[in-house]
Amino acid sequence: MWWSPLANYIFANVDIPKEESLDWYSNRGQFVSEKTALKIAEVLEGLIADGSALDHQKAIEVELPPLCSVCKGENLPQTPEDYADGVCAACSGTGRMYWYPPKYFSVENLKKFYQFCRESEGFKIFQDPHRARK
Ligand SMILES: [Zn+2]
Repeated sequence: MWWSPLANYIFANVDIPKEESLDWYSNRGQFVSEKTALKIAEVLEGLIADGSALDHQKAIEVELPPLCSVCKGENLPQTPEDYADGVCAACSGTGRMYWYPPKYFSVENLKKFYQFCRESEGFKIFQDPHRARK
């Protein structure tokens, strides 16, 4: 759950070489070189030090999630299955979707990740480590 917001934040702030940026959201083991890992570490450390990362965390906490993709924020019936309990099943009647809860992006996560990057000598990405081991 915490990987996608972290990966999005890295892409928004770090220039990742094309061949290392193709497959960050799967379990195919995208390789990231030591050089890139060190660059990620350096940029993340800088964004934490100057307060940008904390600003981003706070912005996410107050940002409204996108409109529900099923009811478009209306909570009105379209198909009976979507409204079994009288409210939109996709959003529980809130009209909004959470792609990920704000708690999954945190400065704490960034700190752990840049320390990992610094010592990693490069790494491979498996978004779901349990599936990747099979
Ligand atoms: Zn809905």
